[in-house]
Amino acid sequence: MSVATAAPTSFSPAGTFDAMASQVLEGRPISREQALSIVEASDLDLPAILAAGYRIRHHYFANSVQLYFLMNAKSGLCPEDCHYCSQSKVSEAPVPKYNILKRDDLMAAAGVAAERGAKTYCLVISARGPNEREMVAVETIVPEIKQKYDLDICACLGLLTADQAQRLKACGVDRVNHNLNSSEMHYAKICTTHTYADRVQTLRNVRDAGMEMCSGGIIGMGESRADIVSMAFDLAELEVESIPVNILNAIDGTPLEGTDSLSPQDALKALAMFRFVAPDKELRIAGGRELHLRSLQPMGLYVANSLFVGDYLTTQGQAPQADYDMITDLGFEITGSCEEVSG
Ligand code: SF4
Repeated sequence: MSVATAAPTSFSPAGTFDAMASQVLEGRPISREQALSIVEASDLDLPAILAAGYRIRHHYFANSVQLYFLMNAKSGLCPEDCHYCSQSKVSEAPVPKYNILKRDDLMAAAGVAAERGAKTYCLVISARGPNEREMVAVETIVPEIKQKYDLDICACLGLLTADQAQRLKACGVDRVNHNLNSSEMHYAKICTTHTYADRVQTLRNVRDAGMEMCSGGIIGMGESRADIVSMAFDLAELEVESIPVNILNAIDGTPLEGTDSLSPQDALKALAMFRFVAPDKELRIAGGRELHLRSLQPMGLYVANSLFVGDYLTTQGQAPQADYDMITDLGFEITGSCEEVSG
């Protein structure tokens, strides 16, 4: 992460973050300055930040953890140039390349999602936006999946027109994932083939069609801490229901290769800041969790209330049993339960 000033090395005054949590729980949103003070806090403040964030998390979600299962239904072959993405046209990463999977493969993956206790099946394709063949494939498979399994469907298909969003709603898609990924200011540094405004418009089309919005971002892409705060406030203002926070896994062969340097402490402070800014929204620790949080992964669940179980789009996650054990060891509960992730 680019950081203008070194983080302070002393504790903040006792009660600082707890008072912020009280403010949020009393219905008074925190300011951008307060949000910045969370991500800029000393590592020494991390326990106090997590404890305060946990008060908010517990108020809205108790100790529940929602699980999501990702299915990369079309891999590689994307004409866009998102610098973090191993499936982009500028990536030289050796990822699988295939067109949208056949019905049987998509149904089999839905079965795995159900077996693993996921509430939501995230059907993802790599694309600027879906072509007609892909739209028809999704319109065909979604009713079948929903008839057979008790799964919600989240579709992550790239940019959507208003008409495409209406069609997805009509076939039974519950939610669409479309990440803002970074701040408006930083966006041109991570993608030149579409704009931040394009992404915001897709989210508006999703909302107008009556579906839930899942949208988050990737931290650790060279943005400033103020950029992360800016993205969090934009997501809160858009009232997205679910916020996945990826921590960049800078895959070899992508333009961002070798740039991931976020510490576990910085990642946790950023996660906590999202909880303060969007207190009642689902907050998911997404791609990069195992790589960057390492042994501190469980601490993330004191502010986040959701995880992916299993692998990411082109990188491996930890074994599902390790996630179940982590949740159980915390004394938390899986309540069962898409997107673009950096992996
Ligand atoms: S993030 Fe999505 S749109 Fe961007 S290159 Fe990857 S698959 Fe394509």
